[in-house]
Amino acid sequence: AAHDWNKVNNSRILVFVRLRPMDKKEKEAGSRCCVRIVNRKDIYLSEFASGNDYLRLKRLRGRHFTFDAAFPDSTTQQEVYSKTTAELVEGVLQGRNGSVFCYGATGAGKTYTMLGTVENPGVMVLAIKDLFTMMRQRSYDGNHAVHLSYLEVYNETVRDLLSPGRPLVLREDKQGIVAAGLTQYRAYSTDEVMSLLQQGNRNRTTEPTRVNETSSRSHAILQVVAEYQVRDSAMSVVIRVGKLSLIDLAGSERALATDQRTLRSIEGANINRSLLALSSCINALVEGKKHIPYRNSKLTQLLKDSLGGTCNTVMIANISPSNLSFGETQNTLHWADRAK
Ligand code: ADP
Ligand code: MG
Repeated sequence: AAHDWNKVNNSRILVFVRLRPMDKKEKEAGSRCCVRIVNRKDIYLSEFASGNDYLRLKRLRGRHFTFDAAFPDSTTQQEVYSKTTAELVEGVLQGRNGSVFCYGATGAGKTYTMLGTVENPGVMVLAIKDLFTMMRQRSYDGNHAVHLSYLEVYNETVRDLLSPGRPLVLREDKQGIVAAGLTQYRAYSTDEVMSLLQQGNRNRTTEPTRVNETSSRSHAILQVVAEYQVRDSAMSVVIRVGKLSLIDLAGSERALATDQRTLRSIEGANINRSLLALSSCINALVEGKKHIPYRNSKLTQLLKDSLGGTCNTVMIANISPSNLSFGETQNTLHWADRAK
């Protein structure tokens, strides 16, 4: 069913939850499943009952949450894309910006959902594929352009993932806030995109102690600008430009506990300022506030033209089924619940 974006105000955020399968490590550690999804949108969570024992979960008053949709661990990448992002792609083709975020603890499935694998490409690749297909069909003269930029925010430093080098400076110009010198890569087919993005992901910051693993504090932002010509209702040719931002957020594990702290103690504790600022912006948007505090972080500055206003925003909260991650899952669901 089509979502009614304008029902409450222009800044309605759709919130989805995706449960990943139990992995080998969790199984070997003897963990139980503590999450149960019912009716494709309700989630029951209990530290003490097994997810299969749903009635017991209810009786134990394991926390109950409800979202726009909750995806069980059998959900395919294509289904996640279709239900969360396909509509935003349609908006982008009509000239409306949109953004999709993956939120969750490290290991919960954010990068899998966004990037995926060669065999099972994720939202980023499927969205670009859809954009190509639809622009080819609709373009007035057959021409269309897709430009990609892929960047990272790490400890409030912005870097170009397609052309790693010195940090980028954010500047305010007529178009809004731009990262000076950021690569705008023109893509001609979906085929090249996966390897481009995989390479970009390898350029994400890693902790010195774990050189092969992306730092849990790194945000990756893919911005896709789609441009083509159509005939409008008066049959004159107009150019349509829309931007889709797809964001693989830093791990949320240290975000919630620090919500109440001051900015100074956030710096001191090396807490993720961008993640906290994003929460503030989303809460302000959801509450219909006039002032949205975009200026508080690099992430929110970069997304200023893609969050709120007439833009469409989607949040996908990723969770693990294991009781070993119960605390993180509960935090993620609480956070997602407040974004509704
Ligand atoms: P994050 O980016 O949130 O830290 P990842 O996306 O890297 O987490 O996921 C952790 C591991 O779980 C990876 O090996 C990934 O391939 C796997 N995984 C995550 N979600 C799924 C899923 N829906 N189906 C199969 N494997 C998944
Ligand atoms: Mg990741």
